Amino acid sequence: MQYIMSLDQGTTSSRCILFDRAGNACAAAQKEFRQYFPQPGWVEHDPEEIWATTLEVSRAAMEKLGVTAADIAGIGITNQRETTVLWDKTTGRPIAPAIVWQCRRTADIIDELVKNGHGETIRTKTGLVPDAYFSGSKIKWLLDNVPGAREKAEAGQLLFGTIDTWLIWKLTGGKVHVTDYTNASRTMLYNIHGLSWDTELLELLTVPAAILPEVRPSSCVYGETEFSLYGGNIPIAGAAGDQQCALFGQCCFQPGEMKNTYGTGCFLLMNTGTQPVRSENGLVTTIAVGLPGEAASDFRFSADSPVRNRTEKTSLSPISDSNLHPQSDFGPEVRDHVEYALEGSIFVAGAAIQWLRDELCVLTSAAESRDYAQSVPDTAGAYVVPAFTGLGAPYWSQHARGTVVGITRGFSRAHLVRATLESLAYQTYDICKAMESDADLSITSLKVDGGACGNDFLMQFQSDLLNAAVCRPGCIETTALGAAYLAGLAVGYWKSREDIRQNWAVDKMFSPEMSEETREALLKGWHKAVKCALTWAEE
Ligand code: ADP
Repeated sequence: MQYIMSLDQGTTSSRCILFDRAGNACAAAQKEFRQYFPQPGWVEHDPEEIWATTLEVSRAAMEKLGVTAADIAGIGITNQRETTVLWDKTTGRPIAPAIVWQCRRTADIIDELVKNGHGETIRTKTGLVPDAYFSGSKIKWLLDNVPGAREKAEAGQLLFGTIDTWLIWKLTGGKVHVTDYTNASRTMLYNIHGLSWDTELLELLTVPAAILPEVRPSSCVYGETEFSLYGGNIPIAGAAGDQQCALFGQCCFQPGEMKNTYGTGCFLLMNTGTQPVRSENGLVTTIAVGLPGEAASDFRFSADSPVRNRTEKTSLSPISDSNLHPQSDFGPEVRDHVEYALEGSIFVAGAAIQWLRDELCVLTSAAESRDYAQSVPDTAGAYVVPAFTGLGAPYWSQHARGTVVGITRGFSRAHLVRATLESLAYQTYDICKAMESDADLSITSLKVDGGACGNDFLMQFQSDLLNAAVCRPGCIETTALGAAYLAGLAVGYWKSREDIRQNWAVDKMFSPEMSEETREALLKGWHKAVKCALTWAEE
């Protein structure tokens, strides 16, 4: 009996799950790690702690199941995206704390780029909305602010990586410096049409090409673990960003299929197939998965999809890439098979529940939020907009800040908890409307996952707001599962995506129960509250 090891390196914890062929989580271990907030709007992690916790949980999971390296067919990695690490090639030591995706310290760099008229170039080439969220400006900041960093980078002494790259480098004992297509597509330096690091963007952000990892498919053997780590050489065979892994783990293989993940942030992704679709409504275009060119046909999903009819009716209009430069710069020689997604990113979702627990101390656990929310019939007219780090899609305001509005004398702890929980559903609603408009479809059901989707109150409220079914699968660890699938496909543990789809099963469906009138009134209040958050930072 062999297993696939999935390393799920999230924003708040490192997790390891061992999966069997049926997609069952057979053993798991998890460890939270420290969040550093050195200044308002700044967020950092210690890369060494990320590595140490990853190693610790992977060994713990193996011990729980009583397995050795020989029992692990392959390792898949999924990671918090965009978070940026720079380290010394020789010593292997990070030159500074990792700058986390949520960190706003580089907002001015982005403002400057946009002011100088580069916004459209960035959008067209990377599919992203220029924002401090992505890695590009974070790399620039480190090179400009860590003494000696730029000189070392230019001399080829430094390496850049997102967390997948950092972990693969550590797991292989410093032998392999790679990333996958999905993670590359979040750097704001990668041309998602030509599939190459983009010289013009590197120049704009003054990033030397020497520090960049090689971009590989999301499902292929990158290298083997150093023997001393697990007492064997396990192939590292898959990697993709957490949201792309969740999309894969939810078996959203066909254009039009989508999922929403309720973790630290909320991320709604819709597969758009082999065509990148440009959003007119504040969503980003991103790479959903990259498969090796020669093996892609085996991995492709060929059976009839339940959404095929709906997809045919949509008018997903591909971006014209006539003025781009495919295969320019450092692109791969054999073109790999790349699929794209439209994505709506919400920066603060479950993190708002952590804020209630850790900063306001009104909860002892995140799960307790359900009972508080259900103990009151509504929020007493109040709204929480958790724009702690600005607002992501579809608003994209770097300067918006969190607001609590509409408070009256009767506003209690329970109302605060309920309003905070509801904010996850309202933010998701806004993304769904943007997605419907871009893809010209009407959402009738939404697959969900992530820590906070275990909250039944939230899922029911989400269904009510969307007036659509919310579908929670049996395995909500879809991020980890997606990484396992990618690795398992590369080593032949699973044969095809059709093989994998057999594993997907529903746990609970939530159906809308709210009247149209109530829904409209609630949404009107929410959009007024968002306006307050957006205008707060304006002079
Ligand atoms: P990540 O991978 O981003 O670290 P997870 O998917 O593990 O996140 O989800 C953890 C997040 O979900 C935390 O921010 C936590 O506050 C929130 N969360 C977990 N359980 C619940 C719950 N029952 N109700 C509401 N929020 C929850």
